[in-house]
Amino acid sequence: MTQQNPHGPDTDLYRLLVETVRDYAIFALDASGHVLSWNPGAQRFKGWEAHEIIGQHFSIFYDAEDRANRKPERELEIAIRDGRVEDEGWRLKKDGTRFWANVVITSLWRDGALVGFAKVTRDLTERRAAQLKAVEDARRLAQSEEANRTKSSFLAAMSHELRTPLNAIAGYADLLLAGVAGELTEQQRQYVERVYAGQKHLLGVINDILNFSRIEAGQLRYDIEPISLRDCIDAVVPLVEPQTRAKSVALVDSAPGEIRVLADASKVEQILINLLSNAVKFTAPGGSITLCSGVEGSEGFIAVRDTGIGISATDLDAIFQPFVQVGRSLTSPHEGTGLGLAISSDLARGMQGSLSAESTLGEGSVFTLRMPLAS
Ligand code: ADP
Repeated sequence: MTQQNPHGPDTDLYRLLVETVRDYAIFALDASGHVLSWNPGAQRFKGWEAHEIIGQHFSIFYDAEDRANRKPERELEIAIRDGRVEDEGWRLKKDGTRFWANVVITSLWRDGALVGFAKVTRDLTERRAAQLKAVEDARRLAQSEEANRTKSSFLAAMSHELRTPLNAIAGYADLLLAGVAGELTEQQRQYVERVYAGQKHLLGVINDILNFSRIEAGQLRYDIEPISLRDCIDAVVPLVEPQTRAKSVALVDSAPGEIRVLADASKVEQILINLLSNAVKFTAPGGSITLCSGVEGSEGFIAVRDTGIGISATDLDAIFQPFVQVGRSLTSPHEGTGLGLAISSDLARGMQGSLSAESTLGEGSVFTLRMPLAS
């Protein structure tokens, strides 16, 4: 015959349940708020063992400020009035450290008389930390997006303002060179040509900044269609030939015939001009620049290889960041804004392609532009 439990079969089960649960502190308080029972969950995250805590007033779990404000007593009053009270806040552990707790106190009644309280506490410290981190991350993201927008619109407005007088400078320099205001002496002509060269350089810098701010602000349109890489190369080679000739750098075109990719031809040409101009800039006279193209997997590529100064492995990632120029000093002979590669790789990404570089210091570099194949 099975032994009958005098309190009914459920009592053991309930005790087992409370004594086994480790993720919740489940304990009872008497009608005046003193601890009557203690489970392993309570011991696990509050730190006291049963014999240390039973008989103590539950206000021991609250910090001095909460105690001064009578928070423990007020919670019991609400539990008596409403049947239960729920709260989230800091509670103390035995060692004095705090944890973020979710607390539910339920008043227990028998025959209309208050007999005590059931208190269930969960440790939400990790969840709270994760929530705070998520909020903080979102705030930081919003701030940086806002800062980016402000920066982009400032750059756009500034470059626009600067371009207007620069165009006037070029216009008047043109008029002077054309002799509209009278014949120029040789020296005057040289001076005006320098003004003109300075104007062109400044305009290039401003256009770079404007371009970059437009890309950053997502204001650029891409006309993606099947295009021929050969056509793009043919369009840009004549534009850089004067530079290669002036610097005695050989330009070798070993790109084969037809490779068709999905891209915006004008953007591909812009990237190629940037890569070729860099190659000329960083290759000493007597060196060479080779253009090749091909197919790799589902992409078509154009590679610009030079026998120039090269880039160290540590600088290779950085050069795609805006305004980064390796070894740039005030006396550096190379001009530029450090925006060219940042713009080019943004443009490549905007066309679902990529721009990458390989280089050996002192031997040369290869920049490869990859675009999705058209078919
Ligand atoms: P900029 O040419 O205006 O300085 P870029 O973004 O085009 O800006 O290039 C960034 C930097 O990357 C250059 O200043 C240079 O240090 C390095 N770099 C780019 N292309 C080459 C190259 N072909 N060979 C060596 N260094 C290069």
